[in-house]
Amino acid sequence: TATLPDIPDLLREQCLIDGAWRDAADGATIAVRDPADGRVIAHVPSLSAAETETAIEAARRALPAWSRRPARERSAVLRRWFELIVAHADDIAALMTAEQGKPLSEARGEVIYAASFIEWFAEEAKRVYGELIPSPSVDRRLAVLRQPIGVTAAITPWNFPAAMITRKAGPALAAGCTMIVKPAEQTPLTALALGVLAIEAGLPPGVLQIITGDARTIGGVLTASDTIRKLSFTGSTEVGRILMAQSAPTIKKLSLELGGNAPFIVFDDADLDAAVEGAIASKYRNAGQTCVCANRIYVQSGVHDAFAARLAARVAQLRVGAGTDPDVQIGPLIDEDAVLKVEAHVADALAHGAHTLLGGHRHARGGTFFEPTILTGVTQAMRVAREETFGPVAPLFRFDTEAQAVAMANDTEFGLAAYFYTEDVRRTWRVAEALEYGIVGHNTGLISNEVAPFGGVKQSGLGREGSHHGIDEYLELKYLCSGIG
Ligand code: ADP
Repeated sequence: TATLPDIPDLLREQCLIDGAWRDAADGATIAVRDPADGRVIAHVPSLSAAETETAIEAARRALPAWSRRPARERSAVLRRWFELIVAHADDIAALMTAEQGKPLSEARGEVIYAASFIEWFAEEAKRVYGELIPSPSVDRRLAVLRQPIGVTAAITPWNFPAAMITRKAGPALAAGCTMIVKPAEQTPLTALALGVLAIEAGLPPGVLQIITGDARTIGGVLTASDTIRKLSFTGSTEVGRILMAQSAPTIKKLSLELGGNAPFIVFDDADLDAAVEGAIASKYRNAGQTCVCANRIYVQSGVHDAFAARLAARVAQLRVGAGTDPDVQIGPLIDEDAVLKVEAHVADALAHGAHTLLGGHRHARGGTFFEPTILTGVTQAMRVAREETFGPVAPLFRFDTEAQAVAMANDTEFGLAAYFYTEDVRRTWRVAEALEYGIVGHNTGLISNEVAPFGGVKQSGLGREGSHHGIDEYLELKYLCSGIG
């Protein structure tokens, strides 16, 4: 356990069910590895289907009392949780880097970002207003109540081990719902540390469960459960489809935040230095392993070569290494499968006529490190254009007209984030309106924050997280028609 930070208060190798820390009854565990060296750093329980049912039952029992608490009381507990996360940001970041690999500064940034959802929804808890509708007749009064949907579940990915949990748990608990969270098997330690702090903040037993184990087993039980009224999932489109199908028999409400294939368009009239910085921020953050990472970089002919040269000069300076090294900007990829996918995408592009401007190979450090890579001469037919690469590879496409760029950008089944750079105000609105995406960044590569609605269209998902809209996902409208004649 050499690479684990020494933080006994936050390190848990047990699951949180009904306010208590538990092992699997049969002692089964899953190993957690440090992606920087592949070593096992911890073990967490592998819970059975029956133990998953126990977690659902705890959430069901806790629901009536929690949902009836005045919103300001729920808000106060969430506020304390937020403050505790911020106070322990360095320790949680160390845990996150150990199991996920991202550079410590990025991990710390994610912890603060994750905490911001708890703060925001602590505030929103108090603003779940209903409605009075002017009645069409004198003898009736019409009201709309917004009530918590009930017991909820969240299944979250490894690329943002803290934030993908808080932007689901924050609105759920604020609304008065209870929740079962199943973090990714690669990054359970960050999730369990958040659980430690939730209990310390005064969250009553059963309001939040954090359970680990085989994804299919637990996912099967959560989706089949009639008690769970809502599932929020962030992960691949492939698994999203499975969970949606599995949720059909119980008609569960779903939030799905799935894959992206973000276009990043640089027009001739762009501020090129700003576009280069935006491309780097969007492309290479988390080693390219985010669902809003620029996946296809379209550059207009007039600036193509200049943009490529400037990008290559800057990307060549990015340092690859273990996330614990403060000079490193690019950590390891999460696992060997991730490296194989990146290698396959690069090989496919080269076989179909693309060229390597920078990188293109596994990094000399070995393991799951990959060189920051830039490809030129990329076309729509290549795999890098069709699928999410999820690695530090920037494929450059050349285009001539705005209409071509928009058509190529929209030529995908995904619709999460898109970016474009232009100084022209008319083009800004034209392109922003034409892009079939849930999130559009204009002259910026960084679009995520707690106050804005995050989510995709097309096969990138359903629903929105964050912003004042985010809490709606955990509420049902009830229409009350009161006869007073
Ligand atoms: P990624 O490519 O980011 O690993 P996945 O969609 O495979 O994306 O994983 C996201 C989350 O979904 C993780 O918590 C993972 O354990 C979970 N998961 C994967 N397959 C299933 C499944 N069949 N049922 C339920 N959850 C699953």
